[in-house]
Amino acid sequence: MKINLLHALFLECDNVSTDTRKVAKNDMFFALKGDHFNGNTFAHKALENGASYVIVDDAEYQTSENIILVNNVLETLQELATFHRSALNIPIIALTGSNGKTTTKELINAALSQKYCTTATVGNLNNHIGVPLTLLSMTKHTEIGIVEMGANHLEEISFLCRIAKPDYGYITNFGKAHLEGFGSIEGVIKGKTELYRYLEKNNKLIFVNTNDTLQIKHSSNIKIFSFGTENNADVRVLLEAAAPFIAVNFKNEKLITQLIGAYNFNNISAAICIATFFKVSNAAIKKGLERYVPANNRSQIINKSGAKIILDAYNANPTSMTAALESLSTLNGASKIAVLGDMFELGNEAKTEHNAIAALASNLNIDEVLLVGENFYITNVHSNKIKRYRTFEDFKNNFDFSSIKNTTLLIKGSRGMALERVLNLL
Ligand code: ATP
Ligand code: MG
Repeated sequence: MKINLLHALFLECDNVSTDTRKVAKNDMFFALKGDHFNGNTFAHKALENGASYVIVDDAEYQTSENIILVNNVLETLQELATFHRSALNIPIIALTGSNGKTTTKELINAALSQKYCTTATVGNLNNHIGVPLTLLSMTKHTEIGIVEMGANHLEEISFLCRIAKPDYGYITNFGKAHLEGFGSIEGVIKGKTELYRYLEKNNKLIFVNTNDTLQIKHSSNIKIFSFGTENNADVRVLLEAAAPFIAVNFKNEKLITQLIGAYNFNNISAAICIATFFKVSNAAIKKGLERYVPANNRSQIINKSGAKIILDAYNANPTSMTAALESLSTLNGASKIAVLGDMFELGNEAKTEHNAIAALASNLNIDEVLLVGENFYITNVHSNKIKRYRTFEDFKNNFDFSSIKNTTLLIKGSRGMALERVLNLL
Protein backbone atom coordinates (compact mmCIF):
# COMPACT_ATOMS: atom_id res chain seq x y z
CA MET A 1 0.00 0.00 0.00
CA LYS A 2 1.25 3.49 -0.84
CA ILE A 3 2.36 5.44 2.20
CA ASN A 4 -0.04 8.35 1.58
CA LEU A 5 -2.96 5.93 1.52
CA LEU A 6 -1.78 4.29 4.71
CA HIS A 7 -1.43 7.75 6.23
CA ALA A 8 -5.05 8.52 5.37
CA LEU A 9 -6.10 5.39 7.28
CA PHE A 10 -3.79 6.32 10.14
CA LEU A 11 -5.52 9.70 10.44
CA GLU A 12 -8.84 7.89 10.92
CA CYS A 13 -7.37 6.07 13.92
CA ASP A 14 -6.95 7.40 17.45
CA ASN A 15 -3.58 5.85 18.20
CA VAL A 16 -0.80 3.57 17.08
CA SER A 17 0.08 0.51 19.09
CA THR A 18 2.68 -2.23 18.87
CA ASP A 19 1.69 -4.25 21.92
CA THR A 20 -1.47 -6.36 21.67
CA ARG A 21 -1.87 -6.24 25.43
CA LYS A 22 -2.38 -2.49 25.12
CA VAL A 23 -4.42 -2.29 21.93
CA ALA A 24 -7.34 0.07 22.38
CA LYS A 25 -10.40 0.73 20.29
CA ASN A 26 -9.69 2.40 16.94
CA ASP A 27 -5.92 1.84 17.10
CA MET A 28 -3.67 1.10 14.15
CA PHE A 29 -1.69 -1.95 15.26
CA PHE A 30 1.78 -2.62 13.84
CA ALA A 31 2.67 -6.32 14.12
CA LEU A 32 6.39 -5.97 14.77
CA LYS A 33 8.76 -8.90 14.97
CA GLY A 34 11.07 -9.15 17.97
CA ASP A 35 13.73 -11.65 19.00
CA HIS A 36 11.22 -13.70 20.91
CA PHE A 37 7.91 -12.99 19.26
CA ASN A 38 6.23 -12.39 15.96
CA GLY A 39 3.57 -9.70 16.22
CA ASN A 40 1.92 -11.10 13.09
CA THR A 41 0.57 -13.96 15.16
CA PHE A 42 -1.43 -11.44 17.18
CA ALA A 43 -3.03 -9.76 14.15
CA HIS A 44 -6.39 -11.29 14.70
CA LYS A 45 -6.28 -10.70 18.44
CA ALA A 46 -5.58 -7.00 17.83
CA LEU A 47 -8.69 -6.69 15.67
CA GLU A 48 -10.72 -8.48 18.33
CA ASN A 49 -9.42 -6.02 20.90
CA GLY A 50 -10.72 -3.12 18.85
CA ALA A 51 -7.91 -2.15 16.47
CA SER A 52 -9.26 -0.64 13.26
CA TYR A 53 -6.30 -1.68 11.13
CA VAL A 54 -3.47 -4.13 11.58
CA ILE A 55 -0.23 -3.97 9.60
CA VAL A 56 1.43 -7.36 9.00
CA ASP A 57 4.29 -8.65 6.88
CA ASP A 58 3.54 -12.38 6.81
CA ALA A 59 0.94 -13.05 4.09
CA GLU A 60 -0.59 -15.94 6.01
CA TYR A 61 -1.96 -13.55 8.64
CA GLN A 62 -3.76 -11.31 6.19
CA THR A 63 -7.13 -12.83 6.91
CA SER A 64 -9.37 -9.77 6.88
CA GLU A 65 -9.63 -6.62 4.79
CA ASN A 66 -8.59 -4.54 7.79
CA ILE A 67 -5.32 -6.45 7.96
CA ILE A 68 -2.89 -4.75 5.61
CA LEU A 69 0.05 -6.67 4.19
CA VAL A 70 3.34 -4.77 3.70
CA ASN A 71 6.92 -5.89 2.95
CA ASN A 72 8.30 -4.96 6.32
CA VAL A 73 6.23 -3.74 9.27
CA LEU A 74 9.07 -1.92 11.04
CA GLU A 75 10.13 -0.04 7.90
CA THR A 76 6.51 0.84 7.22
CA LEU A 77 6.14 2.23 10.73
CA GLN A 78 9.24 4.35 10.19
CA GLU A 79 8.14 5.56 6.73
CA LEU A 80 4.70 6.43 8.01
CA ALA A 81 6.27 8.43 10.85
CA THR A 82 8.42 10.41 8.41
CA PHE A 83 5.45 11.02 6.13
CA HIS A 84 3.37 12.21 9.09
CA ARG A 85 6.19 14.40 10.36
CA SER A 86 6.47 16.09 6.94
CA ALA A 87 2.72 16.53 6.70
CA LEU A 88 2.62 18.24 10.12
CA ASN A 89 5.30 20.70 9.10
CA ILE A 90 6.12 21.83 12.65
CA PRO A 91 9.48 22.53 14.30
CA ILE A 92 11.02 19.43 15.80
CA ILE A 93 13.74 19.52 18.43
CA ALA A 94 15.90 16.41 18.69
CA LEU A 95 17.89 15.55 21.78
CA THR A 96 20.65 13.08 22.21
CA GLY A 97 23.69 12.65 24.47
CA SER A 98 25.05 10.10 26.89
CA ASN A 99 23.23 11.25 30.02
CA GLY A 100 20.34 13.50 30.85
CA LYS A 101 18.31 13.18 27.64
CA THR A 102 15.03 12.29 29.30
CA THR A 103 15.47 14.82 32.09
CA THR A 104 16.35 17.60 29.64
CA LYS A 105 13.52 16.59 27.31
CA GLU A 106 11.07 16.87 30.19
CA LEU A 107 12.47 20.21 31.30
CA ILE A 108 12.27 21.61 27.76
CA ASN A 109 8.73 20.33 27.56
CA ALA A 110 7.86 21.88 30.92
CA ALA A 111 9.09 25.27 29.73
CA LEU A 112 7.78 25.21 26.14
CA SER A 113 4.36 23.89 27.12
CA GLN A 114 3.75 27.13 29.00
CA LYS A 115 3.24 28.78 25.60
CA TYR A 116 2.82 26.01 23.03
CA CYS A 117 0.97 22.80 22.51
CA THR A 118 3.90 20.40 22.59
CA THR A 119 4.27 16.69 22.03
CA ALA A 120 7.33 15.03 23.51
CA THR A 121 8.70 11.51 23.73
CA VAL A 122 6.82 9.62 26.39
CA GLY A 123 9.18 8.18 28.98
CA ASN A 124 12.24 6.78 27.29
CA LEU A 125 10.87 5.71 23.88
CA ASN A 126 14.00 6.84 22.09
CA ASN A 127 15.00 4.12 19.60
CA HIS A 128 14.13 3.04 16.06
CA ILE A 129 10.63 2.12 17.24
CA GLY A 130 10.16 4.78 19.94
CA VAL A 131 11.09 7.70 17.68
CA PRO A 132 8.49 6.76 15.02
CA LEU A 133 5.89 6.24 17.76
CA THR A 134 6.71 9.68 19.17
CA LEU A 135 6.29 11.30 15.76
CA LEU A 136 3.02 9.47 15.19
CA SER A 137 1.73 10.71 18.56
CA MET A 138 1.89 14.29 17.25
CA THR A 139 -1.43 15.69 16.07
CA LYS A 140 -2.67 18.66 14.10
CA HIS A 141 -2.76 20.52 17.42
CA THR A 142 0.96 19.98 18.08
CA GLU A 143 2.97 23.18 17.61
CA ILE A 144 6.42 21.91 18.61
CA GLY A 145 7.71 18.33 18.82
CA ILE A 146 10.45 17.24 21.22
CA VAL A 147 12.09 13.95 20.34
CA GLU A 148 14.58 12.02 22.47
CA MET A 149 17.04 9.93 20.46
CA GLY A 150 19.08 7.20 22.08
CA ALA A 151 21.98 5.35 20.53
CA ASN A 152 24.37 2.62 21.51
CA HIS A 153 26.26 2.36 18.23
CA LEU A 154 27.37 4.46 15.28
CA GLU A 155 24.94 5.48 12.50
CA GLU A 156 21.98 5.15 14.85
CA ILE A 157 21.48 8.90 15.34
CA SER A 158 21.87 9.53 11.57
CA PHE A 159 19.18 6.95 11.00
CA LEU A 160 16.83 8.48 13.59
CA CYS A 161 17.44 11.94 12.08
CA ARG A 162 16.37 10.68 8.66
CA ILE A 163 13.15 9.49 10.26
CA ALA A 164 12.41 12.55 12.40
CA LYS A 165 13.96 15.28 10.20
CA PRO A 166 14.66 17.59 13.15
CA ASP A 167 15.01 21.36 12.72
CA TYR A 168 16.84 21.87 16.01
CA GLY A 169 19.19 19.74 18.05
CA TYR A 170 20.84 19.55 21.42
CA ILE A 171 23.43 17.09 22.73
CA THR A 172 23.26 16.90 26.51
CA ASN A 173 26.83 15.61 26.95
CA PHE A 174 29.44 13.19 25.71
CA GLY A 175 30.07 10.60 28.37
CA LYS A 176 31.19 7.11 29.00
CA ALA A 177 27.97 5.31 28.21
CA HIS A 178 27.42 2.34 25.88
CA LEU A 179 31.17 1.95 25.41
CA GLU A 180 30.49 -1.63 24.32
CA GLY A 181 28.82 -0.44 21.13
CA PHE A 182 30.79 2.78 20.50
CA GLY A 183 34.22 1.33 21.33
CA SER A 184 35.61 4.47 22.96
CA ILE A 185 34.76 8.02 23.97
CA GLU A 186 35.82 9.10 20.45
CA GLY A 187 33.21 6.69 19.15
CA VAL A 188 30.63 8.23 21.49
CA ILE A 189 31.45 11.72 20.18
CA LYS A 190 31.26 10.60 16.57
CA GLY A 191 27.95 8.84 17.21
CA LYS A 192 26.27 11.72 19.03
CA THR A 193 27.53 14.43 16.66
CA GLU A 194 25.73 12.67 13.83
CA LEU A 195 22.92 14.96 15.02
CA TYR A 196 25.11 18.01 14.37
CA ARG A 197 26.12 16.66 10.95
CA TYR A 198 22.49 16.14 9.94
CA LEU A 199 21.50 19.64 11.04
CA GLU A 200 24.55 21.19 9.42
CA LYS A 201 23.79 19.53 6.10
CA ASN A 202 20.21 20.79 6.23
CA ASN A 203 21.16 24.29 7.30
CA LYS A 204 19.37 24.01 10.63
CA LEU A 205 20.28 25.17 14.13
CA ILE A 206 21.71 23.63 17.27
CA PHE A 207 21.67 24.70 20.90
CA VAL A 208 25.05 24.52 22.61
CA ASN A 209 26.50 24.97 26.04
CA THR A 210 29.43 27.36 25.64
CA ASN A 211 31.01 25.88 28.77
CA ASP A 212 31.26 22.49 27.08
CA THR A 213 34.42 22.56 24.98
CA LEU A 214 33.43 19.42 23.06
CA GLN A 215 30.09 20.90 22.02
CA ILE A 216 31.87 24.03 20.82
CA LYS A 217 34.60 22.09 19.05
CA HIS A 218 32.19 20.00 17.02
CA SER A 219 29.72 22.75 16.13
CA SER A 220 31.95 25.18 14.26
CA ASN A 221 30.09 25.11 10.91
CA ILE A 222 26.54 25.19 12.21
CA LYS A 223 24.15 27.94 13.21
CA ILE A 224 24.02 27.99 16.99
CA PHE A 225 22.03 29.55 19.78
CA SER A 226 23.93 29.17 23.00
CA PHE A 227 23.78 29.20 26.77
CA GLY A 228 26.46 29.26 29.39
CA THR A 229 27.81 31.09 32.37
CA GLU A 230 29.93 33.57 30.39
CA ASN A 231 28.96 36.83 28.71
CA ASN A 232 29.45 35.45 25.23
CA ALA A 233 26.47 33.09 25.55
CA ASP A 234 23.17 34.08 23.93
CA VAL A 235 21.41 33.20 27.17
CA ARG A 236 23.44 33.55 30.31
CA VAL A 237 22.44 31.25 33.16
CA LEU A 238 24.23 31.28 36.50
CA LEU A 239 24.14 28.77 39.30
CA GLU A 240 22.78 30.38 42.47
CA ALA A 241 22.64 27.34 44.73
CA ALA A 242 23.29 23.63 44.33
CA ALA A 243 21.84 22.36 47.59
CA PRO A 244 19.38 21.25 48.58
CA PHE A 245 17.88 22.05 45.17
CA ILE A 246 19.41 23.61 42.08
CA ALA A 247 18.62 27.31 41.84
CA VAL A 248 19.68 29.45 38.90
CA ASN A 249 19.60 33.01 37.78
CA PHE A 250 18.82 34.08 34.20
CA LYS A 251 17.99 37.53 32.93
CA ASN A 252 17.49 38.73 36.53
CA GLU A 253 14.98 36.00 37.19
CA LYS A 254 15.66 33.62 40.05
CA LEU A 255 14.41 30.11 39.56
CA ILE A 256 14.41 27.43 42.27
CA THR A 257 13.88 23.96 40.88
CA GLN A 258 12.87 20.74 42.57
CA LEU A 259 15.93 19.01 41.12
CA ILE A 260 19.05 17.80 42.85
CA GLY A 261 22.38 16.78 41.36
CA ALA A 262 24.91 19.30 40.10
CA TYR A 263 24.59 17.87 36.57
CA ASN A 264 21.03 19.19 36.42
CA PHE A 265 22.38 22.72 36.17
CA ASN A 266 23.19 22.07 32.50
CA ASN A 267 19.86 20.40 31.88
CA ILE A 268 17.95 23.34 33.35
CA SER A 269 20.11 25.85 31.50
CA ALA A 270 19.44 24.07 28.21
CA ALA A 271 15.69 24.23 28.83
CA ILE A 272 15.90 27.96 29.62
CA CYS A 273 17.93 28.55 26.46
CA ILE A 274 15.56 26.65 24.19
CA ALA A 275 12.43 28.20 25.68
CA THR A 276 14.00 31.66 25.33
CA PHE A 277 14.76 30.92 21.68
CA PHE A 278 11.10 30.06 21.15
CA LYS A 279 10.09 33.33 22.85
CA VAL A 280 8.53 31.91 26.00
CA SER A 281 8.49 34.75 28.57
CA ASN A 282 10.90 34.65 31.50
CA ALA A 283 8.03 34.39 33.95
CA ALA A 284 6.52 31.45 32.07
CA ILE A 285 9.88 29.66 31.89
CA LYS A 286 10.28 30.12 35.62
CA LYS A 287 6.81 28.81 36.31
CA GLY A 288 7.20 25.74 34.09
CA LEU A 289 10.58 24.75 35.46
CA GLU A 290 9.87 25.40 39.11
CA ARG A 291 6.89 23.07 38.94
CA TYR A 292 8.72 20.19 37.36
CA VAL A 293 9.22 17.16 39.62
CA PRO A 294 11.35 14.23 38.39
CA ALA A 295 9.86 10.76 38.28
CA ASN A 296 10.91 7.18 37.58
CA ASN A 297 13.78 6.82 40.06
CA ARG A 298 15.70 9.69 38.46
CA SER A 299 17.27 11.90 41.09
CA GLN A 300 14.30 11.77 43.43
CA ILE A 301 14.57 12.75 47.08
CA ILE A 302 12.69 10.49 49.45
CA ASN A 303 12.60 10.68 53.24
CA LYS A 304 12.31 7.23 54.76
CA SER A 305 13.20 5.57 58.05
CA GLY A 306 14.94 8.70 59.27
CA ALA A 307 17.23 8.86 56.23
CA LYS A 308 17.30 11.29 53.36
CA ILE A 309 17.47 9.15 50.25
CA ILE A 310 18.70 10.34 46.88
CA LEU A 311 17.19 7.74 44.63
CA ASP A 312 19.01 7.73 41.30
CA ALA A 313 18.51 4.06 40.57
CA TYR A 314 17.19 4.57 37.05
CA ASN A 315 20.54 3.93 35.41
CA ALA A 316 24.28 4.47 35.76
CA ASN A 317 27.46 4.76 33.76
CA PRO A 318 30.88 6.16 34.72
CA THR A 319 30.00 9.75 33.83
CA SER A 320 26.67 9.90 35.63
CA MET A 321 28.10 7.91 38.56
CA THR A 322 30.92 10.45 38.92
CA ALA A 323 28.50 13.34 38.74
CA ALA A 324 26.21 11.79 41.36
CA LEU A 325 29.09 11.01 43.76
CA GLU A 326 30.56 14.49 43.44
CA SER A 327 27.17 15.95 44.05
CA LEU A 328 26.67 13.80 47.18
CA SER A 329 30.08 14.76 48.51
CA THR A 330 29.21 18.47 48.43
CA LEU A 331 26.07 18.10 50.53
CA ASN A 332 26.23 19.33 54.10
CA GLY A 333 25.06 17.59 57.19
CA ALA A 334 24.40 14.03 58.10
CA SER A 335 26.69 11.11 57.52
CA LYS A 336 26.75 10.23 53.82
CA ILE A 337 26.45 6.74 52.38
CA ALA A 338 26.68 5.71 48.72
CA VAL A 339 25.04 2.45 47.65
CA LEU A 340 26.41 1.78 44.19
CA GLY A 341 25.31 -0.99 41.85
CA ASP A 342 27.22 -2.36 38.86
CA MET A 343 27.41 -0.32 35.67
CA PHE A 344 26.54 -2.44 32.62
CA GLU A 345 27.48 -2.29 28.95
CA LEU A 346 31.08 -1.20 29.52
CA GLY A 347 32.70 -4.02 27.55
CA ASN A 348 36.47 -4.22 28.03
CA GLU A 349 36.44 -1.06 30.13
CA ALA A 350 34.30 -2.62 32.86
CA LYS A 351 37.14 -3.49 35.22
CA THR A 352 38.96 -0.16 34.91
CA GLU A 353 35.80 1.90 35.22
CA HIS A 354 34.51 0.06 38.30
CA ASN A 355 37.90 0.45 39.95
CA ALA A 356 37.93 4.15 39.09
CA ILE A 357 34.48 4.68 40.62
CA ALA A 358 35.42 2.72 43.76
CA ALA A 359 38.56 4.86 44.10
CA LEU A 360 36.70 8.10 43.51
CA ALA A 361 33.98 7.25 46.03
CA SER A 362 36.49 6.35 48.71
CA ASN A 363 38.44 9.59 48.16
CA LEU A 364 35.45 11.92 48.23
CA ASN A 365 33.76 13.36 51.28
CA ILE A 366 31.50 10.31 51.67
CA ASP A 367 31.48 8.24 54.86
CA GLU A 368 30.56 4.80 53.65
CA VAL A 369 30.61 3.16 50.21
CA LEU A 370 28.56 0.02 49.67
CA LEU A 371 29.37 -1.68 46.37
CA VAL A 372 26.86 -4.17 45.03
CA GLY A 373 27.29 -6.52 42.07
CA GLU A 374 29.76 -8.86 40.36
CA ASN A 375 31.78 -6.03 38.79
CA PHE A 376 32.14 -3.99 41.93
CA TYR A 377 32.84 -7.12 43.94
CA ILE A 378 36.12 -7.72 42.11
CA THR A 379 37.38 -4.13 42.36
CA ASN A 380 40.76 -3.86 44.05
CA VAL A 381 40.54 -0.47 45.76
CA HIS A 382 41.38 -0.72 49.45
CA SER A 383 39.67 1.63 51.86
CA ASN A 384 37.95 1.02 55.16
CA LYS A 385 35.00 3.01 53.85
CA ILE A 386 34.22 0.31 51.28
CA LYS A 387 32.08 -2.78 51.77
CA ARG A 388 31.49 -5.16 48.86
CA TYR A 389 28.54 -7.42 48.13
CA ARG A 390 28.58 -9.84 45.24
CA THR A 391 24.82 -9.80 44.70
CA PHE A 392 21.79 -7.85 45.82
CA GLU A 393 20.83 -10.84 47.98
CA ASP A 394 24.20 -10.65 49.77
CA PHE A 395 23.67 -6.99 50.41
CA LYS A 396 20.14 -7.58 51.62
CA ASN A 397 21.19 -10.33 54.02
CA ASN A 398 24.39 -8.80 55.38
CA PHE A 399 23.95 -5.06 55.66
CA ASP A 400 22.50 -3.59 58.83
CA PHE A 401 19.78 -1.35 57.45
CA SER A 402 18.97 0.15 60.85
CA SER A 403 22.30 2.00 60.61
CA ILE A 404 21.01 4.36 57.94
CA LYS A 405 19.02 6.48 60.39
CA ASN A 406 20.12 10.12 60.21
CA THR A 407 22.17 9.57 57.07
CA THR A 408 22.00 10.84 53.52
CA LEU A 409 21.93 7.87 51.21
CA LEU A 410 22.68 7.93 47.48
CA ILE A 411 21.34 4.90 45.61
CA LYS A 412 22.61 4.48 42.07
CA GLY A 413 23.24 1.62 39.65
CA SER A 414 22.43 0.36 36.18
CA ARG A 415 18.81 -0.41 35.38
CA GLY A 416 19.44 -4.14 35.55
CA MET A 417 20.53 -3.81 39.19
CA ALA A 418 17.10 -2.38 40.11
CA LEU A 419 18.54 -0.77 43.22
CA GLU A 420 15.21 0.90 44.00
CA ARG A 421 14.62 -2.46 45.76
CA VAL A 422 16.70 -0.99 48.59
CA LEU A 423 13.71 1.19 49.51
CA ASN A 424 11.74 -1.89 50.51
CA LEU A 425 14.46 -2.90 52.92
CA LEU A 426 14.44 0.33 54.89
P1 ATP B 1 18.83 6.82 28.81
O1 ATP B 1 20.09 6.54 28.04
O2 ATP B 1 18.43 5.71 29.70
O3 ATP B 1 17.72 7.29 27.94
P2 ATP B 1 19.03 9.59 29.59
O4 ATP B 1 20.14 10.13 28.77
O5 ATP B 1 17.65 9.83 29.12
O6 ATP B 1 19.23 8.03 29.84
P3 ATP B 1 18.18 10.55 32.16
O7 ATP B 1 17.22 9.43 32.29
O8 ATP B 1 17.65 11.91 31.98
O9 ATP B 1 19.25 10.22 31.03
O10 ATP B 1 19.13 10.60 33.43
C1 ATP B 1 19.77 9.42 33.86
C2 ATP B 1 20.80 9.77 34.88
O11 ATP B 1 21.91 10.44 34.24
C3 ATP B 1 20.34 10.74 35.95
O12 ATP B 1 19.66 10.12 36.98
C4 ATP B 1 21.65 11.35 36.40
O13 ATP B 1 22.31 10.50 37.29
C5 ATP B 1 22.48 11.40 35.13
N1 ATP B 1 22.50 12.72 34.44
C6 ATP B 1 21.44 13.48 34.12
N2 ATP B 1 21.80 14.58 33.45
C7 ATP B 1 23.15 14.53 33.31
C8 ATP B 1 24.11 15.38 32.70
N3 ATP B 1 23.76 16.52 32.07
N4 ATP B 1 25.42 15.01 32.79
C9 ATP B 1 25.79 13.88 33.43
N5 ATP B 1 24.92 13.04 34.02
C10 ATP B 1 23.60 13.34 33.98
MG1 MG C 1 16.26 8.56 28.41
